Amino acid sequence: MIERNEIFDNAMAGVWIKTDSNPLLRGNKIHDGRDGGVCIFSGGKGILEENDIFRNAQAGVLISTSSHPMLRRNRIFDGNAAGVEITNNATATLEGNKIFNNKFGGLCLASGVHPKQKDNIITGNHNMVQKAVSTGQCLYKISSYTSFPMHDFYRCQTCNTTERNAICVNCIKNCHAGHVVEFIRHDRFFCDCGAGTLNNCCQLQGEPTQDTDTLYDSAAPMETHTLRVN
Ligand SMILES: [Zn+2]
Ligand SMILES: [Zn+2]
Ligand SMILES: [Zn+2]
Repeated sequence: MIERNEIFDNAMAGVWIKTDSNPLLRGNKIHDGRDGGVCIFSGGKGILEENDIFRNAQAGVLISTSSHPMLRRNRIFDGNAAGVEITNNATATLEGNKIFNNKFGGLCLASGVHPKQKDNIITGNHNMVQKAVSTGQCLYKISSYTSFPMHDFYRCQTCNTTERNAICVNCIKNCHAGHVVEFIRHDRFFCDCGAGTLNNCCQLQGEPTQDTDTLYDSAAPMETHTLRVN
């Protein structure tokens, strides 16, 4: 049991729960991490109760790979990414949580994820991902390669992208117009088109962002030196 601790300023996630472990985390303050607050992986379970999880760089709580934790009466707020993210065949029971003022949205669910929810208050989140999509931006604008906004992602057969590449919807519409493209799923990713790691040139990369509270605008794009070797 981890109770009434202050867990903060970690380079990695504040707390990792994985491989069938089943801890009780109660009344902790988990904040200002340079990654996520709590990451639950590989069939992790556990009960998170009455924790304050805030101001973390990545998701407050990331639940992945067949995990199934219970989150009760936590406050998850002021995150620079999503409040709670659930992906990779995981699920969760969410009861009486307050999830607010997170930049990428309150509760982000990948394709096929259906948590049990009761009496949660999910309010006042910024939904920056949706805003970027509706204003025609590449999602790389808000994520850089340092975070993984959750949205629809695609693959481009014409550009021969691999299993590991993901392309955001606006890049599909602009940079890959007329190409043979394939919808993959709604999940967490960063856009490889905007990152400049595909063979085509991203047409949205140079556009100024309209979102002045975007945190990651100043981050350097990845691997610019490997572009256009021919
Ligand atoms: Zn993009
Ligand atoms: Zn393409
Ligand atoms: Zn693009």
